[in-house]
Amino acid sequence: MMKRVALLFSSVALIAAAPPPAPTPNEPYDQLRQIVAPVSGAEMKKTVERLVSFGTRHTLSSQTDPKRGIGAALDWTKGRFESFGLPTVRPCDTVTGKRVPTPTRVCDMVAIQRGTERPDDVVIIQGHIDSRVTDVMNSTSDAPGANDDGSGTAAVIEAARVLSKHKFPATIVFAALSGEEQGLLGGKILADYAKAQGWNVVTVLNNDIIGNSCSSDGVCDDTHVRVLSEGPRSQGQEELADSTHSLGGENDAPSRNISRFLDSLADRLNIGLDVMQVWRNDRFGRGGDHTEFLNAGYPAVRFSVAVENYNWQHQDLRTENGIKYGDTIENIDFPYLEKITKLNVAALASIASAPPPPVVSVEGAVSTDTTFVIRGVAADTLYVLRKRRTDANQWEPSSGSTACKVDGMNDPQPANWVHTCVVKGVRVDDWVFGAASISKDGFESPVASAVPGGAFKPYVAPPPEPVK
Ligand SMILES: [Zn+2]
Repeated sequence: MMKRVALLFSSVALIAAAPPPAPTPNEPYDQLRQIVAPVSGAEMKKTVERLVSFGTRHTLSSQTDPKRGIGAALDWTKGRFESFGLPTVRPCDTVTGKRVPTPTRVCDMVAIQRGTERPDDVVIIQGHIDSRVTDVMNSTSDAPGANDDGSGTAAVIEAARVLSKHKFPATIVFAALSGEEQGLLGGKILADYAKAQGWNVVTVLNNDIIGNSCSSDGVCDDTHVRVLSEGPRSQGQEELADSTHSLGGENDAPSRNISRFLDSLADRLNIGLDVMQVWRNDRFGRGGDHTEFLNAGYPAVRFSVAVENYNWQHQDLRTENGIKYGDTIENIDFPYLEKITKLNVAALASIASAPPPPVVSVEGAVSTDTTFVIRGVAADTLYVLRKRRTDANQWEPSSGSTACKVDGMNDPQPANWVHTCVVKGVRVDDWVFGAASISKDGFESPVASAVPGGAFKPYVAPPPEPVK
């Protein structure tokens, strides 16, 4: 069923018939600022101290010692999650690999805050709980891993503490992953678990090294956080190559749009933290657990500090020529860690409140108009259409976006409902288009781009056209 919709250029870029009273633009951000207010660097300091106290959290360290090693750290994390009233699961796999010489049980510790309306839509915050020293196979030396990645794990636990006091329509998953240093093992385990559970993973926020603000050369920055994201969708890339070459999409993977979303969210939160978008999947030649989610087709980005200190990563604890090496807690800037965690918590709250971004495409070659096609929209949902120049970093604000009014949006619609919106006088060639979902109380999803592979779900190649 196709629905023609009335055209409307408006400063209120919502599309819906008889929508609920539109929230003022600042309302959701005021609410988000309230939600993130209790996020506490002092709480996270306690968490990192406790994590460091396990001596080493190397993936090949003891799983049964009650005081030292990865097993004790995972058990303690489970206790923290449960103290917030959250149920936990422990997805595991037995792994052998380049950095795991003998079959080893590798487990994640995961808390699940079930959504009240759309429990299958899932937003994930994660960090890795395992740690290492110079020799990646050394599972016995002290490996405090305060920053890599005690900081990310502390953010996960703090997000659980704060968000568990609220309710959200979608599910939020808090994950402490193992095996990152041995080859992104815990990331793969959780991505596989998500797939087995049938989760619609809307966003993964991977936090890895988010706690130091100064580097070894004296460069300091505690007002930026890097968000790293892939530009072309990696999953499905071969199938998408031809259409991307023709229609664009090399800068519009869902992960790239999460990066844009976080950038504008940070501006509006006004907590003294800007996002530096880094338009590559991870640091140069390096990796992280979000990549395993991308491999599975789930949108994922990595948070990391503005300036890394390589003397404090993956190093044996020692002093050489007066320089201290090692990933110790005195190197953590907890007020900075608090700000990065606040941005994470605000993003989780917003994305878990809004419906997932719609699946949107555009048509309009050799036409002076552009037609939006939105598929599978839910009834009673507001969508905002967005555009940006092809060479622009960020979406134009809603007031500058094209809008259209859709009749019948409040009626129940079949899941495959398709509606179209013709935007007059806008040439499809000159813009990238997209659409975001908005909850009734004004919380926004990231934008999904109207490009091949732009949808926030794993890409599935269409069946080949039947030969006539
Ligand atoms: Zn790490």
